[in-house]
Formats: sequence, C-alpha cells, structure tokens
Amino acid sequence: MKIAVIGGGAAGFFAAIKAAQELPSAEVCIFEANAKPLAKVRISGGGRCNVTHGCFDVEKFVSHYPRGARELRAAFHRFQAADTVEWFESRGVRLKRESDGRMFPISDSSQTIIDCLVNEARKLGVQIQARNKVSAVKHVGESFSLNIADKPTEIGFNRVVLTPGGAKAGHRIVQELGHKIVSPVPSLFTFGIDDSRLQGLSGLSTDNASLALCCGGKTFEAEGPLLVTHWGLSGPAVLRLSAWAARELFESNYHAKLTVNWLGKSKREIWEDLVLVRDSSPKKKPRNTAAQGVAKRLWHRLLEAVQISEEKRWAEVGNKTLKQLQNELAAGTFQVSAKGAFKEEFVTCGGVDLSEVDFATMESKVVPGLHLAGEILDIDGLTGGFNFQSAWTTGYLAGEGVSTF
Ligand SMILES: Cc1cc2nc3c(=O)[nH]c(=O)nc-3n(C[C@H](O)[C@H](O)[C@H](O)COP(=O)(O)OP(=O)(O)OC[C@H]3O[C@@H](n4cnc5c(N)ncnc54)[C@H](O)[C@@H]3O)c2cc1C
Repeated sequence: MKIAVIGGGAAGFFAAIKAAQELPSAEVCIFEANAKPLAKVRISGGGRCNVTHGCFDVEKFVSHYPRGARELRAAFHRFQAADTVEWFESRGVRLKRESDGRMFPISDSSQTIIDCLVNEARKLGVQIQARNKVSAVKHVGESFSLNIADKPTEIGFNRVVLTPGGAKAGHRIVQELGHKIVSPVPSLFTFGIDDSRLQGLSGLSTDNASLALCCGGKTFEAEGPLLVTHWGLSGPAVLRLSAWAARELFESNYHAKLTVNWLGKSKREIWEDLVLVRDSSPKKKPRNTAAQGVAKRLWHRLLEAVQISEEKRWAEVGNKTLKQLQNELAAGTFQVSAKGAFKEEFVTCGGVDLSEVDFATMESKVVPGLHLAGEILDIDGLTGGFNFQSAWTTGYLAGEGVSTF
C-alpha cells in the first residue's frame, strides 16, 4: 500500500502520521513544494503558533466557523480541541491556555510544534519529500499517478490525501480530478476607513464594542475588542465581521457601512451617562470631563464631530447636541472602503465544495481513494486557533479514512 500526501502543512502531517500509525506496513510519503514543510505553522500566531482554542464544548466550538460548522460538528465529536491538546502532550509538547482561550505551546515557539510533527512523522517512517511540487494527479483505474514539477517520471500510489492548503495550484489539481471549487475570497482582514473621527487615534482600543456591518443587503453583527489602526479599524470584533461577511464584502469590493457602538452599552445607558456628566458639572468643559468609560483621545474626536468646541462648558450643551454625541458613541456610522491585512492570521473562504466530501473518512465522493483535508476545503474559522483545529481534525480523519478499505 502506497499513500501519497500532497502538501506538508498541518493537515498533511496529521494525515500522514495517522495513516502511518494505522497501517505500519504502508509506504506513506509527504510531497511538499517548499524547501521546508510546515511554513505556515512556523509563522503562525506571530511565531508562537496558536495551535487550537481552549473550548472543549463542540457546540460552542463550531459556532466559530462561518463556513463548515455543520460538517465539522460530527468530525469534532471524533477529534476535537481536547484531543489536540492530548495529542501534543502525549508527545511531550505541553500547551497553555491564554485568558482569551487561545492555546500555545508553553515554549511560545512554533518550532516546538514543527519539531514534534517532523519527529513523529520520521519515527513512523513517513518520507518527507521537500522541494517536490506535485503538478498533476491522475486517477487511473483504482490507483493514482502523480507528476512532480520539473521531473519526467510519474509515480504510482494506491491512495492520495490532498492537503495543499488554500493556494490556487491545489484548486487546479482537484478541479482536474472533477471537483467543484467554491470560489476563494479572503477572510480575516481589517477594515480600511478614511474618516476624520479616527485621525490620530491609531493604537486606541476599546474592550467591548458592538459593531454592525451592512453589506450586500445583509447585516452582520459582532462584539468584542476594537482597535483603531493608522488607516481604519481592526481587533477581534472587526476580524469576526470580516469572516462572517467575507463573501458579501468581496462582492461589494470592500465597500460597506459600519455602525460602531464604542462602549457596547445601550443607547439609554449612554444617554444617562452623558446627562449625568453634564448636569453634575455645568461649569466644567466637556473636553476635560469625558463620559464614563470613554478614552480621552476618542472623546475629543467625537466632541469635534458634534462641534462642541474646546471652550464650551457643559451648561452650554443642549439636548440636541447631547443626542448627537450619544449617537456618535452608540451608533457612529463609518464607510468601509478597503480591505486591510491582518498579519497574524489569514485564511481563504472557499475551496472544495463540502457536499462532495464524506466527512466520516474525508474521502472524495467524486474520486474514490482520494481524501481531502485542511484549507483546501470550503471551511474557515475565526481567529484564535480554530483554523488549525479544522486542519488537525480533518487531517486526522483523512489519515484514518485512507487506511481503512
Ligand atoms: C500568517 C498566518 C498566521 C496564521 N496563524 C494561525 C494561528 O495562529 N492559528 C490558527 O489556527 N491558524 C492560523 N493561520 C491559518 C493556518 O495557518 C491555516 O489554516 C493552516 O495552515 C491550514 O493548514 P493546511 O495544512 O490545510 O494548509 P497549509 O498550512 O497551507 O499547508 C499546505 C502545504 O502544501 C504545500 N503545497 C501546496 N501545493 C502543493 C503542491 N502542488 N505540491 C506539494 N506541496 C504543495 C504548501 O507549500 C504548504 O506547505 C495562519 C495563517 C497565516 C497565513
């Protein structure tokens, strides 16, 4: 039995290791286009590798996948975040959970994860063929033949696990084999917003913003920390919106209306806070007495936006202007006009249509003997370790599936 794994990333290594464990007599070979495998693991999580998310309730866990939640539910009942923790710990890599749920190796180095995966694969006799880019896969009878770029020969395999990530080259291979690709678009990005209210606020963050994004006739909502960058908005709440609205934002060329509640409080609460600060200190200047919970720099920008000048005192601020200020704090509207980069994590939404894959074994319903795992599938999660978890899980199930026949 010869098994080829195309793509030496997170999913490919998990599939190869599981297959080699299940079928010790099989020849398992990983083909990796780059000089070194696991390049994304290396750069992930700012070099620390956010391996998974410390939430072991499958129902809650799947709610972090804008695409693929339904299919992953059953898959996670077989291999979920708790199993990932156990998998690494049983191989000597302890993971720690940070307060926001993200899990990292205690070494804070992605190299620990790479070493663990490479050593485990080697121990089980998996061959790692780096600098071997697969250019074509043909299904011949009940087996497969692989072409390697710049090499004349074709190599035969009984089974293939396709784990080339979200890149176009992998999409081409799988399309040639007869699969449908849901067109890829970016997910997890920041919002470009050119607005005077944000000028000079770069670096400012609020813990509990509520956002609503109107795009393509739909409204998407998210809550959480919000960060002002030098050219727009970022932070977990924005990244969440970018993932849920990935397709609509792409179709609108990243133009959308964003409503920001900076404090995540109700309009009424914000109104009461404003009235309190105004009525309790009529002689003071609004500039020097921000409403509760509002950062000074943001407060100054919002006062400018509603034209409360520096010299004005609270006694001179009427209800009409106060309403405008309430509106800025509770429902300020901004025009998103571009997509930014989020350097810590990036994934594509889109990939192989999930209806064409049997999630029990990750086997293709189109090409028997072909298994698929990782980002090639139309699955993507929010930031926080969810993307690796779907790669570990689908890789594990593909490795198990490819060894059962
Ligand atoms: C900067 C960055 C940081 C990230 N950080 C995190 C994080 O901290 N936590 C998290 O959960 N997710 C993170 N992600 C997302 C995560 O990296 C991906 O979801 C995950 O790597 C997908 O795994 P994969 O094995 O499917 O694909 P990949 O990791 O992309 O691996 C695919 C491999 O296949 C190889 N390949 C492609 N085509 C061929 C071919 N034709 N022949 C041979 N080899 C081929 C590629 O070179 C690559 O090595 C991050 C992503 C980026 C870009």
